[in-house]
Amino acid sequence: MFFFSDVIGHETLKASLIRAVNAGNIAHAQLFSGAEGVGKFALAMAYARYIHCTNRGATDACGECPSCRQYNALSHADLHFVFPMVRNKDKKKIHCDDYRNAWNEFITSNTYFGIDDWLKAMNAENKQAIIYADESEEIWRKMTLKSFSSPYKIMIIWLPERMNIECANKLLKLFEEPYPNTIFLLVSNAPDQLLSTIRSRVQQVSLPALTLDTIALALQQQYGITDTDARAVAHLSSGSYLKACNNLSLDEENKLFFELFVQLMRQAYARRIKELKAWSEDTAELGRERLRSFLSYVTRMIRETYIRNL
Ligand SMILES: [Zn+2]
Repeated sequence: MFFFSDVIGHETLKASLIRAVNAGNIAHAQLFSGAEGVGKFALAMAYARYIHCTNRGATDACGECPSCRQYNALSHADLHFVFPMVRNKDKKKIHCDDYRNAWNEFITSNTYFGIDDWLKAMNAENKQAIIYADESEEIWRKMTLKSFSSPYKIMIIWLPERMNIECANKLLKLFEEPYPNTIFLLVSNAPDQLLSTIRSRVQQVSLPALTLDTIALALQQQYGITDTDARAVAHLSSGSYLKACNNLSLDEENKLFFELFVQLMRQAYARRIKELKAWSEDTAELGRERLRSFLSYVTRMIRETYIRNL
């Protein structure tokens, strides 16, 4: 994993990143932005692997050199991660390294993921995950030390928009006066929430939404489902492969939601007020979180039917 070939779509972007590496023209700070689930983190990882690989191919890292082997084990000494965390009540200071094992396991078992998946992996659902001020010393230390085995030190910062302001300002200093051969790859869902001074100092790598065809093909290859099913799921995924995978696993729930939606529409059309009242009482028992999902399902279905009619 962590190869360009593991990243769905984005062929033009891959080619231009590869060109930049081979031309020795790697920007010191780059911002991978786009909607959740389009493959920003996967692309940044593949790019980092490619930069560190000592036997690069024309389209991907070799997978066998010492550097690639360290990537397989996520133990490369010049690859660093910064990501949002949840602070325990009893602990005063907390750094990404405290979560590094959980993080390694998490990114190895998921190629596409969102903040909710990470919170679940940390057993911290419904909590606020941020990058704390304490992390700034660590970032500084890691990126100003001499590199170990590669000429380049790479730091991937996942969701920099969740960075404490003090930490962001320290990071900005490193962007303003870059140390030689340091590369920052920022992976952001909401680049407009970053400091404008940071935004103006990074090279933009914008990932567009994936096309329906790209998602459908990937779903077929990964899950062995039919073309018709894959296209139906892809259609409701707004260009996000993560959403597509979630929709696929929500299939059971979707069946229930579909039944409820059909009942609602039929009874509303026939103006059966008494039945509608009973329906609403039954549906209320789904519970708060599932009702929220149901409401967003209904909104989407109404929009889809409307568009189909048009
Ligand atoms: Zn290699």
